[in-house]
Amino acid sequence: MNSNQVPTASIQDSSILVVDDTPNNLYLLTQTLERQSYQVRTAISGRMALSMAEMYLPDLILLDIRMPGMDGYEVCTKLKENPITWEIPVLFISASGDVAGKVTAFSVGGVDYINKPFELIEVLARVETHLKMRSLQKQLQAQNISLQKEISEISGFNHQLCDALRLNVQRQGFELYYQPIVNLLTERVEGFEALIRWYDPKLGFISPIEFIPLAESTGLILPLGEWVIAEATKQLGIWVRKFTHLPNLTININVSAKQLSDPNLVDYVCQSIRDANLSFSQVRLEITESAVIENQENVIKVLELLTSLGIKICIDDFGIGYSSLRRLHDFPISILKIDQSFIRNGEWVIVNAICQLAKALKMEVVPEGIETKEQLEKILETEACDRGQGYHFAKPMPVLATEAYIEKARKRDSQKAENNNV
Ligand code: C2E
Ligand code: MG
Ligand code: MG
Repeated sequence: MNSNQVPTASIQDSSILVVDDTPNNLYLLTQTLERQSYQVRTAISGRMALSMAEMYLPDLILLDIRMPGMDGYEVCTKLKENPITWEIPVLFISASGDVAGKVTAFSVGGVDYINKPFELIEVLARVETHLKMRSLQKQLQAQNISLQKEISEISGFNHQLCDALRLNVQRQGFELYYQPIVNLLTERVEGFEALIRWYDPKLGFISPIEFIPLAESTGLILPLGEWVIAEATKQLGIWVRKFTHLPNLTININVSAKQLSDPNLVDYVCQSIRDANLSFSQVRLEITESAVIENQENVIKVLELLTSLGIKICIDDFGIGYSSLRRLHDFPISILKIDQSFIRNGEWVIVNAICQLAKALKMEVVPEGIETKEQLEKILETEACDRGQGYHFAKPMPVLATEAYIEKARKRDSQKAENNNV
C-alpha cells in the first residue's frame, strides 16, 4: 500500500461501554451489540462510567442522560476534560427529545443523540458509523505520527511534541511544583521557586529543559508564561492566608527572554499580584544571563519598571553565561543565583568569587543545587549567602506535598521552642 493511502476502517471487535441506570435498557443494548461481535461493558452510574472509561478505554460510549447522582452531561464533560478519555466518542441516549437537551448534549462534546424508546436497528447503524469514524481517526493519527517522525528526523524539529505542547497550553494542562528556598542558617523556608511540570498520557513526563525551548521558538511561551505567573501568585496568596505564621513568604517565577519583550508582561504580572492579594516585594522573577544580554534596550526598561514597583529580579544559573560585570551592574538586579554546576563540581574558588562580587554590587546570592551537608558547610564558610536551595533541603513538590512540608516544619519549630522553654 502506498504510504499516502488511508487503509479502510475496521470496526470488528470494537469495545463499547454502555451506561444506563435502567437494567432493562442495559440488557437489551448489550444483547444487540454483542450479537454484532462487539465487546460490551456496562456501567449503571456516572461515577462507575468514568472509572471504567479510564480503565478500559472503550472505542465508543453509549450514555444515558438522566441518571441519579451524576447525569450524562456531567459524565461527558468530565470525559472530555480528562486527557486520557477525551477522544472517546460519546453517543447520548435519552427519553427527553427536546431541542435544548440535544443542544446541551452536543455542547458538552457528544457526537450524536438517540431518542428513547430507541429502535435497535437505528442504534446499530449509528454505532457502526461512529465506530468507523473513530477507527479512521485512529489510523490517521498513527500515520500522522509516523510521518511526523520522518519529518522531525529530516528537519530536526519535533512536530509531535510541538502539537502536544500547543494542545496542552490551550488546555492549561500543566502543573507547578514548588521547591523551598531556605534560610541557610536556620534552614527555615522563606520562599519557593515555581517549576513547571508536564505529563502527557502518550509521551510521559517531559522535562521543562526539553519543552521550554520549544515553547520559546513557537511563541507558545507567552500564554504558557502567563499561566505560570497567574498560577504561582495565586498559590502563594493561598499559602500566605493559610499559613499565617509565614506572612512574608516569597515566590520565584522563571521568566524567559521572550516574555521580557512582551509588552503585556508588566500589566499581567501586576494584575496577577493584585488578584492574589500579595505585595510586590513577595514576587521575584528569575531571568537568565542571556536574556539580559540579548535584547538589552527594551529589557532594561521593563526591568526598571518592575523593580520600581518592588518586584525583585534574579539572574538564574549565574556564572555559566558570558555577562560582563559592567553590563550586570547596569541592570536593576537584586539577586544572583549561583549555577548548580559550581556546587556539584566543588568549585569553591569560583563560588567564593561570585559571593564577593555580589557583596560588592550589593546583591544577594542564592546558591542552587545544594545536595549534601558538606556542600552546605562549604557555602556557609563564604559567609555571603543567606538563602539557598537544593535537594539537601527539599526537592520540588506538588501543592499538597508542599503544604505537608510547611506543616511539618511548623510543628518541628514549635516543638523546639517548647523544649527551649522547659
Ligand atoms: P532552574 O530555574 O535553574 O531550576 C532549577 C532546576 O534544578 C530545576 O529543574 C530543579 O528541579 C533542579 N534542582 C533543584 N535542586 C536541585 C539539586 O539539589 N540537584 C539537582 N541535580 N537539581 C536540582 P527543573 O524543574 O527540571 O527545571 C529545569 C529548568 O527549566 C529550570 O532551571 C528553568 O530554567 C526551566 N523552567 C522550569 N519551570 C519553568 C517555567 O515555569 N518557566 C520558564 N520559562 N522556565 C522554566
Ligand atoms: Mg530558576
Ligand atoms: Mg537555576
